[in-house]
Amino acid sequence: MHVSSPLYPWQDSLWQSLAGRTQQAHAYLLHGPAGSGKRKLAEYFAAFLLCKAPVKQHPCGQCSACKLYAANTHPDLMRLEPEDEGKGILIANVRDLVAKILQTSQQGGRKVVIVEPAEAMTTGSANALLKSLEEPAGSTVFILISHQFSFLLPTIKSRCVLQVCPLPAAPASIDWLRQQHPELNVEQCQTLLALASGSALNAQKLLSADVLLIREQVVNGVKQLFKQHSSPSELAVAWAKMPQDLLFDWFCQWAQLMLRYKVTEDESALGLADMAVVLKHVAPRAPLALLLQTQDWLLEHRQKVLRRVPLRADLLLEALLVRWQALLPR
Ligand SMILES: [Zn+2]
Repeated sequence: MHVSSPLYPWQDSLWQSLAGRTQQAHAYLLHGPAGSGKRKLAEYFAAFLLCKAPVKQHPCGQCSACKLYAANTHPDLMRLEPEDEGKGILIANVRDLVAKILQTSQQGGRKVVIVEPAEAMTTGSANALLKSLEEPAGSTVFILISHQFSFLLPTIKSRCVLQVCPLPAAPASIDWLRQQHPELNVEQCQTLLALASGSALNAQKLLSADVLLIREQVVNGVKQLFKQHSSPSELAVAWAKMPQDLLFDWFCQWAQLMLRYKVTEDESALGLADMAVVLKHVAPRAPLALLLQTQDWLLEHRQKVLRRVPLRADLLLEALLVRWQALLPR
């Protein structure tokens, strides 16, 4: 008996290519867009590599290694990650890890190291790890996870078996979302998926953050704003508690879509249906210079929002909406 696979349905063939190898490599690099399920794949692969008696290319779930893994206490599973999210992986942490893998394994089997995200390694950290990647002590296996493949040093990439982890195709993502959330209809799933840049997993996170509702409120607010039925200050107060990064993402996209439409007049490239009509109406009427200035302003302030610069949400949104309303001359 093996534990039922926790992998996502789109990872079947990925799993085969990892677990089905006749000989395991010293280092793997799982790379692909964020939200494709790489961490789950890496974790399950680690469990498989540590298991003492895999069954049909899956961890058995019964042996001492599997039990330690399940309790999250396996001494030979190590992780190398930033101490603070979004920060770099410190060279001191790499050196500690290298010292640990030089010791014999506690369970007498493999040691597994998960590095996530690999692009968080500084050049110094990466160099400190290189020798271990090349000539791992004992039977250590490294599993590197990367969302930003192009940021990795070529010396790191060249020492790993590369495994691309793509996002599933849209129909498969929508099927999966509907299975997980039978209360959603196809259109809602499509909207969520588009808002999540095609990742079904991120779409699920957006759902739990009530993003569909927020989107509806914001889209309606923008329509009211252009009709002069709501003022920038009213909307700013109403939206002050919404996730600011999300709002800035949307407004940046809308500015971008309007600029593109102004040039191409391509109606099929107006983004999600909920705002397409509004953008199509406003874009030809918005003065180009003003639209470009607004885009600059949005990009600049989006950076501040992403860097968590302390700003008063209501004042920032009011400034945004005053600019936005001015795009449609009265
Ligand atoms: Zn086992």
